[in-house]
Amino acid sequence: MKNNIQGGEFLIKNQEALEIYIPEDMNEEQGMFRSMTMDFLSKEVNPLREKIDKQKENPDLIPKLMYEAGKLGMLSASLPEEYGGMAVDFNTETFLSEDLGTSQSFSVAVAAHTGIGTLPFLYYGTEEQKKKYLPGLGDGSLKAAYCLTEPNSGSDALAAKTKAVLEGENWVLNGGKMWITNGGFADIFTVFAQVDGDKFTAFVVERDTPGLTIGQEEVKLGIKGSSTCQVFLEHVKIPKENLLGEIGKGHKIAFNVLNIGRFKLCAMVMGASKRSIDISVKYANERHQFGVPISSFGAIQQKIADMAIHTYATESATYRVSGLIQDKISSLVSEGKSKPEAKLIAAEEYSVECALLKVFGSETLDFVIDEAVQIFGGTGYSEEYPVASMYRDARINRIFEGTNEINRMLAVGQILKKAMKGRIDLMGPAMKIQDELMEIPEFDDGQDEILYHEKKSVIQAKKSILMLAGAAAKKYMLELENKQEILMNLADMLIHVFTAESTVLRTEKLINKSGVESNEMQINMTKCYVNDAMEKTYLSGKHLLSELAEDDMLVMMHMGLKRFTKYPITSTLSLKKKVASILIEKDTFY
Ligand SMILES: Cc1cc2nc3c(=O)[nH]c(=O)nc-3n(C[C@H](O)[C@H](O)[C@H](O)COP(=O)(O)OP(=O)(O)OC[C@H]3O[C@@H](n4cnc5c(N)ncnc54)[C@H](O)[C@@H]3O)c2cc1C
Repeated sequence: MKNNIQGGEFLIKNQEALEIYIPEDMNEEQGMFRSMTMDFLSKEVNPLREKIDKQKENPDLIPKLMYEAGKLGMLSASLPEEYGGMAVDFNTETFLSEDLGTSQSFSVAVAAHTGIGTLPFLYYGTEEQKKKYLPGLGDGSLKAAYCLTEPNSGSDALAAKTKAVLEGENWVLNGGKMWITNGGFADIFTVFAQVDGDKFTAFVVERDTPGLTIGQEEVKLGIKGSSTCQVFLEHVKIPKENLLGEIGKGHKIAFNVLNIGRFKLCAMVMGASKRSIDISVKYANERHQFGVPISSFGAIQQKIADMAIHTYATESATYRVSGLIQDKISSLVSEGKSKPEAKLIAAEEYSVECALLKVFGSETLDFVIDEAVQIFGGTGYSEEYPVASMYRDARINRIFEGTNEINRMLAVGQILKKAMKGRIDLMGPAMKIQDELMEIPEFDDGQDEILYHEKKSVIQAKKSILMLAGAAAKKYMLELENKQEILMNLADMLIHVFTAESTVLRTEKLINKSGVESNEMQINMTKCYVNDAMEKTYLSGKHLLSELAEDDMLVMMHMGLKRFTKYPITSTLSLKKKVASILIEKDTFY
């Protein structure tokens, strides 16, 4: 029986390597599903990228490809069997998202359809609504869009102005939505509106309803193939039964589907990062300058290694959270909950981790694709090669599904809220650290055990977060939620420590499975990543120190921060060279 941590508890509890899910745990069935997905994407979708991106000329191309994807089960993977779905487990969904992430604009259309487009029906629909819409959404004959954002309410989504008024047997909607993905072709729209001025509520609106009109396609920086439009609602009359969920509970629908959306966004950007590395390695081997392949240059090798290391960390953290969500779903189902209900609760439980992953994954992809453009040199700037469009397409991921600023604040805010509600005990461990600051540090005898220092460092680094979060809570009390600069740095510390721990645990599990020798590359990546994560944790912590303490306390906390983020001097440059040389020799990242 696994002794799993609850959401946000990674800060105070340490999981064992054997308890976490890693991508190498993939079973045969999942492997077959992945081969089918990758086959479809690489043969039917990715070769059409240029055509797809000329969205105005080919508006029917993405809907047509989505229909084909529906026939293969790619749109119904997570739906229950009674609505024509495949009811795969959550880890299989994660593999699917990762693979989908290689397909640029197509992935955005599919993710919006299967995620924010379909999930409101699955989780909050009445039985009639589920029977009416889910089979079509699953087989691709119906396409969905989610209409939350308005011109004056983006991050502040609950300030939406669209109104819904009950007139006899109908709801009448008036207002306008903006940035609606799949707006150009969706058949069904989940529309959020205010009832009686302040009861935020969700409704289902079908495309052919009089009064619903769709604006021009937005001209965007990237994901040019994805349809993004304004949606206007002018006296749109819909039957009373088109209320989705309860009046005044629309925020639950809006935000709960976003937890899963954020998680899946991370899996998708990780797929995109892997593809970016793969094409970069191949190009670096092909391209010759000064009479040799550019992959033989140390400067290029360091880039390839850094791209691989950050992606390995993203992958480790993503599948760890996937496993936690899957385990939670299984335990809730065994207690009698339906699968969709269990999934919703599980995603909410790990909402802190989902928000952290969204930030880390999207920022990793931006780093990776930027380096890919650099490796391609001038050709990276040319539309003839895929990296230019991948570079543009990556940028949106830091903006939608909640901007990265909002997600950073959300993650820290939720951990603090859980602590205040007594769901996780932060204060106890934070107080202990105060005592530890006064103690003489233990001397490390430098154990020989593989990954000993890495394991120790991540456990210690958690103390640096507890120390600073505790000091911030003590100084600002309830005002802390308005101290954004502090929350941002705490969120960064959480990200570095969570991803570093996930990387160490995955590599440890791999060593347990197949030994040290066959995991040399993973061990080297882990050492480099932990080194990097500890340095960054220290820096974020240092920014906070002077805000939170002064005089003797400042000196003592600085010493504590240094001690808690300590990692032995490591030959990262030569370890990275080794990592890069393996990829360069294999001529692939996969
Ligand atoms: C291509 C694309 C597709 C989209 N698809 C959909 C869709 O299908 N459905 C849908 O409903 N929406 C969609 N959106 C909207 C998207 O979710 C919003 O753009 C996003 O939530 C940010 O809102 P905003 O653009 O109004 O920016 P703003 O909220 O105005 O934010 C501007 C800046 O201010 C920062 N900021 C805002 N509030 C705070 C705060 N309290 N504290 C600190 N910083 C803050 C933000 O982080 C950001 O940096 C899409 C957007 C794009 C660009």
